[in-house]
Amino acid sequence: MKRFFSVVLVLCLLLCSVSALAQTAFTPGVYTGQAQGKMGLVTVEVTLTEDAVESVAVVSHEETAGLSDPAIESIPAAIVENQSLAVDTVAGATMTSEAIIAAVADCIKQAGGDVDALQTVVEKEKVAGEKVTVETPVVVVGAGGAGLAAAVKLGQLGMKCVVIEKMPVIGGNTIRCGAAYNAVDPELQAAQGIEDSIELHIQQTYDGGDRVGNLELITVLCENALDSIHWLEDLGCEFKQTITTVIGATWPRTHYPVNSIGSDFILPLEAACEEMGQEIIVNMEAKELIVSDGRVVGVLAEDTATGTPYEFRAEKGVILATGGFAADIERCRSYNPNIPEDITTSNHPGATGDGIDMAVAIGAATEGIEYVQMLPITGNCVSTAIENQIFVNVEGNRFVREDGRRDVMSNAILEQPEKYMYMIGDQRVADESITGSNIDALLEAGKIYRGDTLEELAEQIGVNAENLVKTVEAFNELVKGNGEDEFGRAVYDHTIEVGPFWASAKQRPCLHHTMGGVKIDVDARVIDTNGEAIPGLYAAGEVCGGIHGSNRLGGNACADIFVFGRIAAQSAFEEK
Ligand code: ADP
Repeated sequence: MKRFFSVVLVLCLLLCSVSALAQTAFTPGVYTGQAQGKMGLVTVEVTLTEDAVESVAVVSHEETAGLSDPAIESIPAAIVENQSLAVDTVAGATMTSEAIIAAVADCIKQAGGDVDALQTVVEKEKVAGEKVTVETPVVVVGAGGAGLAAAVKLGQLGMKCVVIEKMPVIGGNTIRCGAAYNAVDPELQAAQGIEDSIELHIQQTYDGGDRVGNLELITVLCENALDSIHWLEDLGCEFKQTITTVIGATWPRTHYPVNSIGSDFILPLEAACEEMGQEIIVNMEAKELIVSDGRVVGVLAEDTATGTPYEFRAEKGVILATGGFAADIERCRSYNPNIPEDITTSNHPGATGDGIDMAVAIGAATEGIEYVQMLPITGNCVSTAIENQIFVNVEGNRFVREDGRRDVMSNAILEQPEKYMYMIGDQRVADESITGSNIDALLEAGKIYRGDTLEELAEQIGVNAENLVKTVEAFNELVKGNGEDEFGRAVYDHTIEVGPFWASAKQRPCLHHTMGGVKIDVDARVIDTNGEAIPGLYAAGEVCGGIHGSNRLGGNACADIFVFGRIAAQSAFEEK
């Protein structure tokens, strides 16, 4: 994914109070600086006078569209306004923010300026205003995949809503995810000779979650997954026509949008909201549900920038779409002490379980709250599809089926020497990769590895070469149908033998998904501890429990958020 973006901000100088200026002097001119962002290099152009930063513009970058926009807009402006590099980064777009600051610092150095002298923190006082009351038919809490799907569906039904989002950026975990989306698709799967059925998808989802999931919800998920893909297509989301797998999917029924990243979903949904006049308010954190006569009639919230309290009154109800809590490592470990203390998370910082807590506070029941998922990989790989890759430990040996469950694979990695593994494939994996990796950039940055021979690759990654060669030979025999895999692998496509050969970065499990959440029924109504639906309260997406049992299949979350986001909207519309 390569996107060029140009934001030119020529702002009037704020002279006066900022002391940093007096301490530094520049050779006036226009300078270009670069720094590494999350996805690639961020390039800025900075205009300096003798004693001031006159303008900052981000002239090119490869950051994720949508996700990085608030940083690209606000950080240059803040640097100019404060005449300081010590500006607040944008939560949720930290790496982009830091890259812009570093690139500007680079320009300052080129101009002979003193970067240290430009570190004055300009404190801004938060001044909370009077409480603001907003009336709207429906409030959607959370602007991730489920929330935006609900807002668009409401718009299609002709009903207005307001979406409130606590972060400065929309998209939640959805915009960051690899966008793997499971749906049985007779047409595309048949074209590739893949056998599948909705019954099998239901069965694998149920079994993959240790049969503790709610079969009614699973059935709704699997039966409506393909329809939601078509719905997204109608909104302008483009899907690849190849069906593949993703880690933990257990079966080749995974669809990917063209860039294999969640912004492929979020951007068309955001555009549809705008077109329909569905307002999205960022920096607005829901704090409490308002209940009147046993019915949820709104949300109390706070503008996180000013502290101003808000009351959103919603006569038709509230849809909770606040996601899970896998960013709260301590909370996850409190449910599952087997999670290592030094675990990292793949989640955005806003995934803290707020919606679950707000619903529980008014009597909602939860389901499966103790089930927290680790993802076996942390990123930087040639492909996340596993049909043509193997996992090896530092000794060069396989140790688990690569087409298995995420929890099984994660636990197996934690039992290996040094607790990490590499993913190994051949050139065809690189050629076929549809999972969004910018392979050339990753290779250049030393984040993935390529060797003309397996021995050469083994040396680069510090793995026993003799074992790696034997492991690959044994795997190739399995692909050819000679013998049974000792780990039970069932998904194969081709051998690993066409060089050059590729290895991922070291892969360690990280926290990824919380299967548990508020209890819902098939109409996405939130159920209370007495088993009754709470009037006016609906929920969709990772905030809900029950769908994925104890372990979610890779690729089922994207189906979940769009299927149940739409259902929640329909139910609110019908006042079910
Ligand atoms: P899902 O996949 O279920 O849609 P996401 O993580 O994509 O979940 O989106 C959930 C969104 O909800 C995130 O953008 C998150 O910041 C937002 N959110 C979480 N808690 C609150 C809250 N208290 N108020 C407003 N938005 C919230």
